[in-house]
Amino acid sequence: MAFLQGKKILITGVLSNRSIAYGIAQACKREGAELAFTYVGDRFLDRITKFAAEFDSTLIFNCDVGSDEQINALFADLGKSWDHLDGLVHAIGFAPAESIAGDFLEGLSREGFKIAHDISSYSFPAMAKAALPMLRPSSALLTLTYLGAERVVPNYNTMGLAKASLEASVRYLAESLGPKGVRVNGISAGPIKTLAASGIKGFGKILGFVADHAPLRRNVTLEDVGNASAFLLSDLAGGITGEITYVDGGFSKVVGGISE
Ligand code: NAD
Repeated sequence: MAFLQGKKILITGVLSNRSIAYGIAQACKREGAELAFTYVGDRFLDRITKFAAEFDSTLIFNCDVGSDEQINALFADLGKSWDHLDGLVHAIGFAPAESIAGDFLEGLSREGFKIAHDISSYSFPAMAKAALPMLRPSSALLTLTYLGAERVVPNYNTMGLAKASLEASVRYLAESLGPKGVRVNGISAGPIKTLAASGIKGFGKILGFVADHAPLRRNVTLEDVGNASAFLLSDLAGGITGEITYVDGGFSKVVGGISE
C-alpha cells in the first residue's frame, strides 16, 4: 500500500514545476496523500490553480508568511475543509538580493537580516503554532534547509544565518511538539536549479562543483528530495524527529576540490 494513503498534507512553496515543493507534491501524491497548497500574490492564482489540479486538489490559499493575519487565516480557512493536518511542508525562502551576493559584510544590513530571518526562518515555527489545533499524534512537519547554514558557501551570506536559525527551530519545535506525538524534521538539499536558487550569485558554479565532488558525482533531483520528504512525512519515519537529513549526494561529508 502507498505509505501516505489518506494523509492530508499542506504544501507551501510551489512556484514552478522546478520548485522543490513541486517534487515533494509529486512524491506525496504518488504515495496516496491528499494535498492542499499555498501561494503568494494574486498574480500567481492561475498558475497555482493549474498545479493544484495536476494533483487533484482545489484547496489553494494565498498566504504571505510575512503576515501573521495571513498565516492565521490560512489555517482557519483550511480548517473549513480538513478537520486535521497530517503533514505540513515549509518550502519557503527569501532574502533581498544584496544579502545573497558578494562579500558578507558589504551586503549585510539590518533590514536584509530581518527580512531573510522573518520569511525564511520565523515563518516555520509561526506556521507550526498556527497549525497547532489541527495537528494530531503522528502529524509531521518538514522544512527545507541548505549546507550554507553550517559552512561558508560563497554568496549565500545572510541566508546562511537564516538557515542556521531555521535548523535550530527544527530542534526546538521537535522538543515542543514531541510530547503531542508530532514530529519535526528538516531536509538539507543539495543545490537544485529553481527560481529561488537562481537569485544566488554564482549558483551555476556551485552546481558544477557539487556534481564533480559529491560522492555520487551528480546533483540531486526533485525526485530525490521528494522521495525523502514523503518518507519523513510518513509513519515509516515514526521514530525520527528534530533531525536534519542530507539529500545532497553526500557532498556535505567530503572535502572537495583537492586534486590528487
Ligand atoms: P522556489 O523559488 O521554487 O520556491 C521558493 C518559494 O518561497 C516560492 O514558492 C515562493 O513563493 C516562496 N516564498 C517566498 N517568499 C514568501 C513569502 N513571503 N510568503 C510565502 N512564500 C514565500 O525555490 P526552491 O529552491 O524550491 O525553494 C524552496 C526551499 O528549498 C527554500 O527554503 C530554499 O531555501 C530551500 N532549498 C533550496 C535549495 C536549492 O538549491 N534550490 C537547496 C536547499 C534548500
